[in-house]
Amino acid sequence: MTRATFASILVLLLPGASYAQQAPQAADIEVDGVTYNESVPRPEEILGYVVGTRHTEPYRVVEYFRVLAETNDRVTVAEHGRTHEDRPLIHAVVTSPRNHARLEDIRDANRALSDAPASLGPGDLEIMPAVVVLGYSVHGDEASGTEAALLTLYHLAAGSGQEIASLLDSLVILIDPMLNPDGRDRFVDWVNRNRGATHTADPQDREHREPWPGGRTNHYWVDLNRDWLPARQPETRARLKLYHEWRPQLVADFHEMGGDATYFFQPGIPSRTHPNTPLRNQELTGDIARYHARALDKLGQLYFTQEVFDDFYYGKGSTYPDVNGAVGILFEQASSRALESETNNGLLPYALTVRNQFATSLSTLQAARDLRMDLLSLQRDFYAGAPAFAEERGVGGYVLPLDQSFDRAHQLASLLQRHRVAVHELNVPLSVSGRRFEPGQALIIPGGQPQARLIDAMLTSRTTFADSMFYDVSAWTLPLAFDLEILIVERTDLPLGPEWSALTSESSAPATLDPEAVAYVVAWDGLASARFLGHLHAADLQVRLMTRAFALQTRDSVKRYPAGALVVASRQNGMTQEAVMTLVSESARLERIEVHSAISALTPDGPDLGGSSAIVLSSPSIALLTGPGTSSSRTGEVWDFFSSYLGVPISLLDLERLAVADLDRYDVVLFAGGAAPDSALAPLEPWIRAGGRLITAGSAVDDIIKAGFIELTERPFDLDSLTAGVAWGDRRAARGA
Ligand SMILES: [Zn+2]
Repeated sequence: MTRATFASILVLLLPGASYAQQAPQAADIEVDGVTYNESVPRPEEILGYVVGTRHTEPYRVVEYFRVLAETNDRVTVAEHGRTHEDRPLIHAVVTSPRNHARLEDIRDANRALSDAPASLGPGDLEIMPAVVVLGYSVHGDEASGTEAALLTLYHLAAGSGQEIASLLDSLVILIDPMLNPDGRDRFVDWVNRNRGATHTADPQDREHREPWPGGRTNHYWVDLNRDWLPARQPETRARLKLYHEWRPQLVADFHEMGGDATYFFQPGIPSRTHPNTPLRNQELTGDIARYHARALDKLGQLYFTQEVFDDFYYGKGSTYPDVNGAVGILFEQASSRALESETNNGLLPYALTVRNQFATSLSTLQAARDLRMDLLSLQRDFYAGAPAFAEERGVGGYVLPLDQSFDRAHQLASLLQRHRVAVHELNVPLSVSGRRFEPGQALIIPGGQPQARLIDAMLTSRTTFADSMFYDVSAWTLPLAFDLEILIVERTDLPLGPEWSALTSESSAPATLDPEAVAYVVAWDGLASARFLGHLHAADLQVRLMTRAFALQTRDSVKRYPAGALVVASRQNGMTQEAVMTLVSESARLERIEVHSAISALTPDGPDLGGSSAIVLSSPSIALLTGPGTSSSRTGEVWDFFSSYLGVPISLLDLERLAVADLDRYDVVLFAGGAAPDSALAPLEPWIRAGGRLITAGSAVDDIIKAGFIELTERPFDLDSLTAGVAWGDRRAARGA
């Protein structure tokens, strides 16, 4: 029995087989001159079904990728990280066996485009393969991309003929089949378990209506496609590391949009491109688009460009490459959501959406091959122009003073380094902008370094825009987000000490504390102090908060503290003095914070350590409202913040259960955002009257106004006045910010 016959019999035997035969298949795409090596396992031989006839779980995707890596000399697969739920984040490197044998050399040469662009002439580029990243389904419920990744890997691993050979010779292809495995798992689990042997295309059917919080986001309900700049999530951090190891020239980002649409590929709206993205990037985006157009025309698939989606916010997967000397391309396929869906364009089968994503995966590779020299030159010229970019803006460098907050400065500097930004220590005295910094009191970020455009986009405020409408994120200024002042300095001769490296829990020394001290004192410094407090509370230590500024007598000096300092008495109930000291010292080491030992509770200035200005802190019992009626993304941020960053246990309390829940367990209820149904919040009222504290933010404030908990009047604003007298076709633009 030949393999082809085996595969078709398999299809007939499987549930959904009739669907598999009717639905347009990826196999409809005939690539001229490509034949397939029958010894390479087809996806259905490993999965047990034809791609597009079922939603593929993350573990099966990993399995197929690993099987191909084991049996094929064009493919290696590596794990670059783990998700919150401990799923592997994998990528395949696909290229010719000859390129695989010299992969490190290829990577080194490729890095020279950004590290030493002036050293590379056209002859050097001529012999360099380009690096392409195909990234799929960062939104877990936009599932077709990942299925297309399986087909793309098979096509490249099993195909033979001139077309395949030329792709593999001229490109190093990184396939990241699932950018968000946790979200995909949630989604795929839902659709597969809510579909019968005979499926329905009814959009009201349960399979088509994924429940709160949906599969778009990751474990903490965070949209990973906004996280490329802030890099708060493990998926993003792992991906950034991989990105900067390879520094691709072309990045494809596969998504889905509303089911009634057709297919979109970039260019998006031209006026909504970040000004730090070079014009040449947009020209190449246009050239690449012709390849997708040709591929989809051949299939009779309608599409559009330039009408929606922008390239402004660098925290998106298709825009981040634009500020890293590459071209990022966003793809949006109309979503079938389930196995098949009724849409304005008729029935939309999942298999067809997979087919389209497969087609544009291949057209991406063809474009990269044909435009290889243009893409390599773009990246080289992008980095060669970095010093001039900084000079034009009058930016010699940035000075980050460390006296504002060690914790936040540390976080910002670490974030910059994740983006391959060089950060240096200050090791000689420096006077800038009328301020003097001693060695160790500031960090220096050179302005004209290769990442000049990215640094500018991250650190400077931008308040005027060519086009005031945005897809969503329009402004971000990290110093404001971190509440840090950064000095922009014109001079280019800033003294550069050694490259700064983050102090980790392992590298930080335990605080040396005085065993004779009456108390240990820590200045409040943001999250680190909050986590420090959490460690002590978890060990049942009593901790006081100083509500006023004071001076402290240590053994050899007087130290001044602003209000907010934490005081831990060295003698505590049920614990030896030594145990208290060890706990304080170890917690301080973990959080990299400074502790001082007080030799007396009597202070030379300000309140004493045991007075009414030293209030005892209690560890709050917190519930966070979740579930339908709350915003999963806003709620997820708060959950992540308490659970991951503060290390504080927090109960997720579904809004639907509020009426039957025992609210007396909680001191604080958090409502981070949403649109709660009328009366859903009513059970909170008696609890608030009895002393419970409700904290709300964003749209949740509207809900508590509706519930009558507070009185606020909205400032009236007549949106229609903006569009009075404007032609209907221009109204959308006129309603811009
Ligand atoms: Zn998406």
